[in-house]
Amino acid sequence: MIASLATWWRRRGRVPIPDPLWSAILRSLPWLRHLGSDELLRLRELAEQFLKRKDLVGAGGLELSDEMRASIAVQACVPILHLGLDWYRGWYSVVVYPDDFVAPFEYTDEAGVVHSGERALSGEAWPDGPVVLSWHGARGGAWESLGGNLVIHEFAHKLDMQNGDANGLPPLHPGMSVAAWRDAFSAAYEDFCRRVDHADDWLPFDDYAAEDPGEFFAVASEWFFTDPHAIRAQYPAVHEQLRAFYRPRARSTR
Ligand SMILES: [Zn+2]
Repeated sequence: MIASLATWWRRRGRVPIPDPLWSAILRSLPWLRHLGSDELLRLRELAEQFLKRKDLVGAGGLELSDEMRASIAVQACVPILHLGLDWYRGWYSVVVYPDDFVAPFEYTDEAGVVHSGERALSGEAWPDGPVVLSWHGARGGAWESLGGNLVIHEFAHKLDMQNGDANGLPPLHPGMSVAAWRDAFSAAYEDFCRRVDHADDWLPFDDYAAEDPGEFFAVASEWFFTDPHAIRAQYPAVHEQLRAFYRPRARSTR
């Protein structure tokens, strides 16, 4: 009786991911093999809690299956594996379109002129609002084969937004240095933009990272979890800061 009560209490705040579905997700995301067995256990628990706390809704005619929800939840919980679900506080919904979706944009250029219009996106994170994803991007597809990950990207923006704009400086842990973070990321971002301008073939990750420092952090976060070797080799100071922030276990191959 006590055991079953304990089990009930533990499962109360979760939407369970059944074993066959969990196995299928692990097969579909081969980069998760970097994680240790204790980390995978934790990831599954977090994803089950995520499914309970967040509202995942289909849009544009997409009906979300349990498989789709679970896959998105697992990927979304990778960045907070060693941070905790509280880092996703203050918002509630994940909206999923079948494919790229059209979103309005507005920006002010250096001359102070405001430009606005519409553009097709595969993902978007709103401050204090939803994360919007294309299922085509979230399930892997072309993006995954390049080493990036749409879901990690958008949820890294969410972490960044915990202290305001997505500017590439999330709230750092006690003991971390804002100056050290800025030094590492500024130097790498400058170097990366120069290499993109020179059409360098040896970029460590997607050239979309040159858009602005916020995108640089989100893209670097994608690769940190899926294929960290290039960041570690080319931008070791950034790799060190990401390690200090995401706190992966030593047994992970980073
Ligand atoms: Zn972005």
